[in-house]
Parts: sequence; C-alpha cells; structure tokens
Amino acid sequence: MTSELTNPPTILWLRRDLRLSDHPGWAEALKGPGPVIPIFILDGQFEDYGAAPKWRLGESLSQLQTDLNQRGSRLILRSGEAAKVMIDLIAETNARRVVWSRQYDSRAIARDKGIKSLLVESGVDAVSVNGSLLFEPWTVETGTGGFYKVYTPFWKAVRHRDVRVPISAPADLKAPNTWPASDALSDWQLGSSMGRGAVSVARFATIGECRAQDRLATFLDGPVDTYKDRRDFPAEPAVSGLSENFAQGEISPVTVWHAGVRAMEQRGHPDAAEHFLKEVVWREFAYHLLFHTPEIETRNWRSEWDSFPWREDNEDAERWRRGMTGIEMVDAGMRELYVTGVMHNRTRMLTASFLTKHLMTHWKVGEAWFRDCLIDWDPASNAMGWQWAAGCGPDAAPYFRVFNPDTQGEKFDRRRVYRDRFLKSQGPRASSDAMAFFDAVPRAWGLSPDDPYPAPMIELADGRARALQAYEQRAG
Ligand code: FAD
Repeated sequence: MTSELTNPPTILWLRRDLRLSDHPGWAEALKGPGPVIPIFILDGQFEDYGAAPKWRLGESLSQLQTDLNQRGSRLILRSGEAAKVMIDLIAETNARRVVWSRQYDSRAIARDKGIKSLLVESGVDAVSVNGSLLFEPWTVETGTGGFYKVYTPFWKAVRHRDVRVPISAPADLKAPNTWPASDALSDWQLGSSMGRGAVSVARFATIGECRAQDRLATFLDGPVDTYKDRRDFPAEPAVSGLSENFAQGEISPVTVWHAGVRAMEQRGHPDAAEHFLKEVVWREFAYHLLFHTPEIETRNWRSEWDSFPWREDNEDAERWRRGMTGIEMVDAGMRELYVTGVMHNRTRMLTASFLTKHLMTHWKVGEAWFRDCLIDWDPASNAMGWQWAAGCGPDAAPYFRVFNPDTQGEKFDRRRVYRDRFLKSQGPRASSDAMAFFDAVPRAWGLSPDDPYPAPMIELADGRARALQAYEQRAG
C-alpha cells in the first residue's frame, strides 16, 4: 500500500491491452511514487462490438480481475462517456497522471486526443505509450515518405529492425489504500447477445495472459517447425491460435516476436519460425493501413470498385451465414466459426471469396458477420482480410483468381478431416463438433442435425463466370 496523501495516484486506463507482462503502460504508471489505479471504461466505442467479441472481452476482463486481485490490486470498471468517466475519477481520487496504450482506429484516436487536451487543460499529465504494436504506423515509411500499400516491401522495411526487449510483469502493483467504486462486471452483461453460442465457444476459448503465454510456448516447442508447410491445412494443429489473445492484448507482439526469434535461432527450422514472424507482421501491416487509410473499415479501399454491382444483404448470404450453402468447405468454415468463435485462415479466405465472388455479395455483409461472430475480431485485420478477399483492398489477390472451394478442399483437406469435423452430424461416426453447431445456432434458424445436408446452392463454374463477367464490365 502506498500513501496517496503525499503521492497522488496514477490512473492506468486499460483498453486492448489486458495483461501485466510486457506492458509499457504499467511500466510508465509505476514510475511515479504514487499508487496505480487500473481502470477499464465501457464507452460508446463498444456499442458496435459484435456478440462474440463482447463476450470474449467479458471473459478477458474477468480473468484480469482475478490476476490483479491475486497481486493485491483491482480493476475498476466504469461505463459512460470516457472523458466524463475520467474527469469524475480524477476528482474522486485526486490522480495527477493518466497513462494508456495507444489505439489506431480513427474513432479511438479522436476520443483519445479529446481526452488528452481535457486532461492537460486540467493540469493532469496524460501519457500514451505503444502497448500493442511492434512498429507504430508512422514509424514505417517508404523511401519517398509515404506509407506502404503492399505487404512485401513493408515486411522488408521492418524485418531487421530492432525490437525492444520485453518488459517483465511488475512485482509491486502499488495498490492505493482506498479504492474508488467499481461497477460489477456481471451487470455489464457482456455475454448477453451470444445466446446459446457462448456454451459452445467457451469450450474452445483460451482466456487470459497466463494461458496465452502457455499457448505461445507450446506452439514454439513443436508446431512451429511445420508452420510454413502446414499452416494452410485447416485440420492440422499447425498454427498458433494466438489471434484471440492478441485481440484483447493478453499477449504482446513484442513478447511473441522475441520468442519467435529465439525459436529461429534454436530450432532446426529457422525458415518456419521466420514465416511465423512474417504472419505476425501481417497484423502490423493491417494496423499500418488502418491508421493511414481509416476508410478501409467502411469503404472500398480502391475506389474503382465503387461501381461493382455487389448485392446488398440477401437470402443467399443468409444461407452462407448459416453454413447451409451445400458447398462443403464453405459450410465447414462457417460452422467452425459458430462452434469455436474462430475460423482457420484458409477457410476465412475461401468463405470470404465465395460470398463476394460466387454470391456477388458486398464484402461489408461478410465483414459484419465476422465482426459479430469472431472472438478474435480485430478491426484492422478483419477489414483488411475482407477487402483483400473481395479484390478491392490493398495488396489484394487479382479478382480473376477466384478460389474454388471444392478444389481447395481437395488440396488442403484431402482426407476430409476438417469437413467431417464440422459437417458430419449423422450416423455412427457423427462428430461432436458438427453436432454442437445445431446446439449453438439460434433456434429461430430451425436447423436440425437430422435434416439432410443441402445440395449445392450454386454451380461453382457458373458463379465464377458471373463474377468475372461483372468484373470485366466494371473494368470497362
Ligand atoms: P497464426 O497463423 O498462428 O499467425 C500468428 C498471428 O499472426 C495471428 O495470431 C495474427 O495476429 C497474425 N496473422 C496471421 N495471419 C494474418 C492475416 N492474414 N492478417 C492479419 N494478421 C495475421 N485476424 C484477426 O486476428 N482478427 C480478425 O478479425 C480477422 N479477420 C479476418 C477476415 C478475413 C476475411 C481473413 C481472410 C482473415 C482475417 N484474419 C483476422 C486474419 C487471420 O485469418 C487470423 O489472424 C488467423 O487465422 C489467426 O489464427 P492464428 O492466431 O492461429 O494465426
């Protein structure tokens, strides 16, 4: 306990950085002589959070509360307009400093700028730090001073940069003698929109900093060796699964980077470990793009796509959402999403391609569905992934390269392990994950595991031809 009479407290405003280790914000907050009050504010930024990300946020906050309590600290929860909450808390605690990790989407930037000026006007120090990225967007510039629009030169520009060493978790969290009041997490009802899906997804989620660290260690102790060659095979345990932890900031990219570099040096497969680091840098690239072109979240990144005749939401898209297209790789991916809260990258690419190309439906329809269902939802990676798959984004695959989900199945799921896992709901060898889909989806969908699997809703060749024709017409 620290005396706040002589040493006023520092408020540590936690956001997408729900951890203790390698946390520059904690390090900064603890520099002062006074106690530290960690706070999380549920403000308007969370209004358009989807059901699964909100549920996952609640789980992460709950775990962080436990972690902090075990170390004699607490997490203060408040809801409302962030500026007002902050000013009230400062008045209550007499804090003289507020510290937070920067965010990079336009709404958070505008909010944080406003709060910073408000604090400075009131004579309170406002310190923001980099707690979520390896390379902040403005620190990576092309030779002519612009930003990167293509991934490979971005990767080359950062590959050999020094990355600061990770910061250890603080030993003393400098709890105040008296704590300000906190909302009860249960009153926020963060899981309320998940409905039946929460029970299923909870079985797969790996929540909190400690489990994220274990997950990284397990991955780098074996699976990383085959990462480069096997990461595209959705039935194989060849990927890290860290995205849900990154999304809440339960692990830092700096920690992952250094562990990956060590794996490169120590294991016999330096290429594989390097490939993993390269993927981690895709997340950095997504934030680079989000910062420099915030419209990536809402508008076609390439404006020449504005004339493309994408359909708004429609009945075909509803079949896609329900995993009832009759195209097995697509349905397996969409059901994986519902059952586990994540989807393998290979099937994210091909389900997105199917919706935007074969079904000619706007990428925003799919982006919104993923935003609602993914426990690893990330504003930058989701927007970039959708625009990439649709063809209208930065570094996008050429439009005429339309994924054929059947061919993809033959190539990446030859033995049908993935498809059976998420589709085989009948017969003596029915899979429990395939059955779980029917328990997880809303009853209103009226789906039963006993119903026959649907016939393909579209001839893949026809869908492809239609999309290409529209593309050619658009190109004029
Ligand atoms: P690994 O293969 O183990 O990779 C390690 C880390 O690198 C990941 O955790 C992730 O942080 C990063 N990474 C890997 N691939 C990508 C990529 N293509 N783009 C950006 N970062 C990457 N990722 C999200 O985290 N949140 C999203 O909302 C999201 N939406 C997507 C939507 C679409 C349409 C597509 C095509 C991709 C999307 N991705 C998203 C990217 C990617 O699919 C996931 O990051 C990946 O599947 C996570 O699995 P993993 O942690 O096992 O990754």
